[in-house]
Order: sequence, then C-alpha cells, then structure tokens
Amino acid sequence: MSQHFDLIAIGGGSGGLAVAEKAAQLGRRVALVETGRLGGTCVNQGCVPKKVMWYAAQLAEAVSDAPDFGVRAQSDGLDWQKLVAGRNRYVANINDYWDGYAERTGITRITGQARFVDARTIAVGDQHYSADHLVIATGGRPIVPRMPGAELGIDSDGFFRLETQPKRVAIVGGGYVGVELAGVLTAFGTEVTVVALEDRLLWLFDPLISATLRENMEAHGIQTRLEFEVAALERDADGLVLAARNGERLTGFDQIIWAVGRTPNTRELSLEAAGVTVQPNGIIPTDAFQNTNVPGIHAIGDVAGREPLTPVAVAAGRRLAERLFNDKPDLKLDYENVPTVVFTHPPLGKVGLTEPEARERFGDTLTIYETSFTPMRYSLNAHGPKTAMKLICAGPEERVVGIHLIGDGVDEMLQGFAVAVKMGATKADLDATVAIHPCSAEELVTLKIPVRRPGQGG
Ligand SMILES: Cc1cc2nc3c(=O)[nH]c(=O)nc-3n(C[C@H](O)[C@H](O)[C@H](O)COP(=O)(O)OP(=O)(O)OC[C@H]3O[C@@H](n4cnc5c(N)ncnc54)[C@H](O)[C@@H]3O)c2cc1C
Repeated sequence: MSQHFDLIAIGGGSGGLAVAEKAAQLGRRVALVETGRLGGTCVNQGCVPKKVMWYAAQLAEAVSDAPDFGVRAQSDGLDWQKLVAGRNRYVANINDYWDGYAERTGITRITGQARFVDARTIAVGDQHYSADHLVIATGGRPIVPRMPGAELGIDSDGFFRLETQPKRVAIVGGGYVGVELAGVLTAFGTEVTVVALEDRLLWLFDPLISATLRENMEAHGIQTRLEFEVAALERDADGLVLAARNGERLTGFDQIIWAVGRTPNTRELSLEAAGVTVQPNGIIPTDAFQNTNVPGIHAIGDVAGREPLTPVAVAAGRRLAERLFNDKPDLKLDYENVPTVVFTHPPLGKVGLTEPEARERFGDTLTIYETSFTPMRYSLNAHGPKTAMKLICAGPEERVVGIHLIGDGVDEMLQGFAVAVKMGATKADLDATVAIHPCSAEELVTLKIPVRRPGQGG
C-alpha cells in the first residue's frame, strides 16, 4: 500500500522547498523527499556558505585598504577555523529553520533517495508513495572529469569542507564558481592560479565584463591561464601538478579545485520506470509550464537546465504550485531578463542580452554605451579595481535590452535596474531619471555618447 499525496517534491533544495511550501499553503497534502539536509545546494554548498566567505574576504580587503584613508588597521591574517565554524553554524540554523517550517506547515518529510516505480509512484527505501503531481527538483552536483589523477583534486563541495586554508591553489575552470572561489582565496592570502579551456573567463557574459574581470583578477594577484587544456593531475616532490595536453606543467600546488561545471542529479531516479524523457547530458526537458513529457510529472530548477540560479528554481516552483492548485492555468515563469550576479572582487552582474546575443537578435540596430573608471571608494588607494558598465539599446527607440556591470556595489545596484529592463525601459527613461551623487550607479543614468551606433557593428 502506498501513501497518496496531492504533490510530492523530490529534492529539498530551492525548487523543491518552494513548490512544497506553496502547495501546502494552498491547503494541499504535500510530501518532500530529501536525502540530506534541507536547503539543497544553495544553503549547504552554494550561495550561502560562499557569500559568508565573500563577506569575510571583503572585510580582509577593507582592512588592507584602510591605512591609506588614515584608519589605523592591521590584519593578523585569517582564522580559517573560526570563519568555517561560524559559517557552518549559520548554515545549520537555516537547516533547522527549514526542518521546523516543514513541520509547521504540515509537509510530510521523507528522508532518503527517491526513485520512480511508475508514472504516479516513487519508492524511498522499501516504502512506496504516490501523488497526482510529482515534481523533480533534484538539482545537480559538481563534475569531476575523467582523466589520470582527477581524484587528486577537490570540487566546490570539497572546498566547503576544507579545515585549513590552502596556501597555493589551482582552480580549473573559468566559470562563475571558479572565479568566485579564486577571489575569496586571494583575499585571504592564498596564491591562486585559474586555468580555463576557453579564451576568456565567464564566456557566457559580455566580453567587456570578461576582459575587465581578468584585468581586476590579475591586478589582485591571481594568475590566469586561458586556453589551457588540463590532461592530468599529478603529484611530485613540490606538491600537486597540472599537466596540460600540450606538455606544459604548472607545479607546486597544495590544492587543485575542479570548477568545470555541474551535472543534473537524474541518474539515480529510475526515470525510465515512469517514461520521463531525459537528455544525454542528464537534463530533463520541460515545456514552458515545467511539464515533462509525462502528464503529472514536472521538473524545476537546475535539473531542468535553464538558468541555474536559486531564485529561478524558487520562482518556477511557486508558479507551478499556483498553476496546479490555485486556478491559474496560464501561470509560468518568464525566463527572459533574469538578472544574475557573480560574487567576484569586485562583483559583477548582468541582466538581458550580451552584445553578441543582442546583435544576433536585433542585427545592426544597436546603440552601445560604455564607461570604465576607478570608483571613489579607492580615491586614496594607489591601486583599485576597475568598474565597467555597458548599456545595450535596440532599435530607434533605444529600448534597453542588456545591462552589464562590474565594480563595487553592482551586486546591490542591479536588482532595481532589472525591474526597469523588465518593464521595457528605454535610454530616454534612464536619461530622465535624476542621478544619485556621488556613487557609481549614477553613471548608468548619465551615459552620453555611444561607443557604437546602429550600423557600426561590434
Ligand atoms: C558554489 C556555488 C555557488 C552558488 N552561488 C549561487 C548564488 O550566489 N546565487 C544563486 O542564485 N545561485 C547560486 N548557485 C546555484 C544554486 O545553488 C542552484 O541554482 C540552486 O540550488 C538550484 O536549486 P534546485 O532546487 O534545482 O537544486 P538543489 O538546491 O541542488 O537541491 C536539490 C536537492 O535534491 C536532493 N536530491 C537529489 N537527488 C535526490 C533523490 N533521488 N531523492 C531525494 N532527494 C534528492 C539533493 O540532496 C538536494 O538537496 C550556486 C551553486 C554553487 C555550486
């Protein structure tokens, strides 16, 4: 005999918790299956512990910049164990919150690994559970490539388990996880080298951002090696070695971190038992309403392969529950103009299209505005990271279709500008907005002369 629910969420991360919470608020019988602690990647091995470390790194940098402003401050270095213990306590509090929340809202918590038995039923251990709606929200895990010595490296989950601060680190991968970890470690005094296969860091971001990021990282002391194809990891008398396919060797590391992407958690789900289509890369394709090919089975979050971000998983989960149980048959998440921030030093972010994407969509109708400067925050420091901004406008009405930022404060700045882009703001709307002075954000509403006009290409 199986226990029956209106909805079962498989995975207690950002997406699973959101859909379960909303369905329970709407009075439905809901179960949530999770193998580990509630909160998923974001809480346990992602956004939250990462951002705590980013704040520590910001403080370390502020202490070293302070004497130039006459503030007597001196750092004795980092107490890694204290930082990690505090971070872990903070994460555990969030786990406890979700445990209590699930109980208070009447969500049935099932602990263990779910697998499909048929299109209405899952098994956890030897117990069976069925539901009218099954939501796959199993997220993903870091990829460790198959190559000789791969096991000598750790992944981002392993980074969050480090009990001591590594002194010389190589990070393999120039995506957001790689550049974020590089910034944090460097601020704490670790020597960092980032290697990437591609010819630029953060290749999914606008080229201006990639170039400024690399400049800032190198000024910060991070070595970057692009178009570097790792073929093996080795150990010699000096420590760990990165061996490239072309024979080059980078030596002397005490830690190598794989940051080469993530793969969806779909293999253990026995999706074939339910007839759910899965792509060779493990992603479960869905339509615009998060439906898989099997009626009553839905997929949200990282496992669905679109915009792997916590707020995206949460928004998709909430909308799905409202559509199913609150008489809103047309409700779905709009994946256009999702803002995103990368917590580098300084941070960067984007909303909308990059210049190459905008050219593909709007052809030669683009007007591009750019600026680059050292912000007042570093007025008394000899060296400060650069801030750069790009505004991409399409058509004669100059509708803003992309905003790309790197610099201090852009992480907090972007959310408001994302609202404007979502509402269809034009350059004239930005021009009509009075600036706030003195701050970096004012540059975005005072950009005057385009660097490229329609017909001028990129
Ligand atoms: C280092 C790092 C930093 C990040 N920083 C940010 C950031 O700053 N901002 C941001 O928006 N996003 C960030 N992300 C991405 C964000 O964490 C994910 O997009 C988000 O967690 C996806 O939510 P999800 O619900 O799809 O999956 P997850 O949060 O991964 O949750 C999936 C859950 O399913 C469980 N599970 C898997 N298989 C089964 C099974 N068979 N049965 C039961 N349970 C199962 C897993 O244990 C997991 O808890 C970061 C990710 C990483 C790795």
